[in-house]
Amino acid sequence: MVKETGFYDTLGVKPNATPDELKRAYRKLALKYHPDKNPTEGEKFKQISQAYEVLSDAKKRELYDRGGEKAIKEGGTGGGGGGGFASPMDIFDLFFGGGSRMHRERKGKNIVHQISVTLEDLYNGATRKLNVQKNTICERCEGRGSRKGAAQMCMTCHGTGMQVRVHQLIPGMVQQVSTVCHSCQGQGQRISHKDRCKACVGRKILRQKKILEVHIDKGMRDGQKIVFHGEGDQEPGLEPGDIIIVLDQREHSRFTRKGEDLVMSMELQLVEALCGFKKPVPTLDNRTLLITSHPGELIKPGDTKCVLNEGMPMYRRPFEKGRLIIHFSVVFPQANFLPKHKLKELERYLPEKMDAEQPDSMDDDLYIYADLEDCDLENRKRRHHQYYYMDEDDYASTGGVQCQTS
Ligand SMILES: [Zn+2]
Ligand SMILES: [Zn+2]
Repeated sequence: MVKETGFYDTLGVKPNATPDELKRAYRKLALKYHPDKNPTEGEKFKQISQAYEVLSDAKKRELYDRGGEKAIKEGGTGGGGGGGFASPMDIFDLFFGGGSRMHRERKGKNIVHQISVTLEDLYNGATRKLNVQKNTICERCEGRGSRKGAAQMCMTCHGTGMQVRVHQLIPGMVQQVSTVCHSCQGQGQRISHKDRCKACVGRKILRQKKILEVHIDKGMRDGQKIVFHGEGDQEPGLEPGDIIIVLDQREHSRFTRKGEDLVMSMELQLVEALCGFKKPVPTLDNRTLLITSHPGELIKPGDTKCVLNEGMPMYRRPFEKGRLIIHFSVVFPQANFLPKHKLKELERYLPEKMDAEQPDSMDDDLYIYADLEDCDLENRKRRHHQYYYMDEDDYASTGGVQCQTS
């Protein structure tokens, strides 16, 4: 039992969610509510990030399950590290392979895109064209924002880009506060209007569209990232960021994937389970497997069988494939599907009843007949209602038999 479910609810998972389910939930929500895509949902983005930060860490998750959000905020007893949360952007960058913030400072921003793929795409491989918008360094001015040599040092900050202000807190105690220079927005230099680059209006970067061709290889997985190094945002003086494509597999109507295996369920009629069957199953590459059980083989309800080499191709070794795992269920015939005298006949073919001892005489003193009833509540209520009108003695001696015929 967990104390509260708030973080689980935020991610839309159950409290018993596996680490994989948590990752998947975070991935979907973080991409949806990222400020790049949804600038008004900052608070939601933060909540998702905090919930994931706690639940993805086994120790913090245990602490949360026991003590709730309060325990996390207090940082636990001897848990160390205090109760603060990391910045939502750092969590996002770490998750999507953007590296830590240290790394980010020397690199332009990464662009993360999710693309929706089918299980067929992952089985056969596919190519997608993707339109992305990114910042590129203006070619006309080579990222200077002006004619060569036209930039002048900002006189307000003397080229440092920072302004230092001194506050007096109380007499005799002052505080120094550094802020970004207002005159030059931290650039350290100023460009007069007439010298500005016409192409980028002095901004040094341009917003450009680019078409990326994304190759989805056979055997790739839901959540797998395809990284285009150096294709992300460009900024003067920084290494360009990356474009990171995240695959999001849609659910398939027939198969679910477990690692390299494909799992499906198959319903058999009783006669098929007992006497054998051939059943066609379309594969993800449009072949048809004829799943065959030979007469004499027997499938029991709940049996699991597999077909080798009909699972997913292995990533980067596409000629090796996993298994197709089939869970069987067996549909029994309807009640009274055979007249009673035929049932006797059928019984002869089936293995003998165990413990087939039957009473010779119907001695009421020795046996109490116990009929089987539906456990379904509605049905039982109706039955009880019928008992109510029956004679006590009748009920005790013949029980449900009368009940069924009345
Ligand atoms: Zn320019
Ligand atoms: Zn300045």
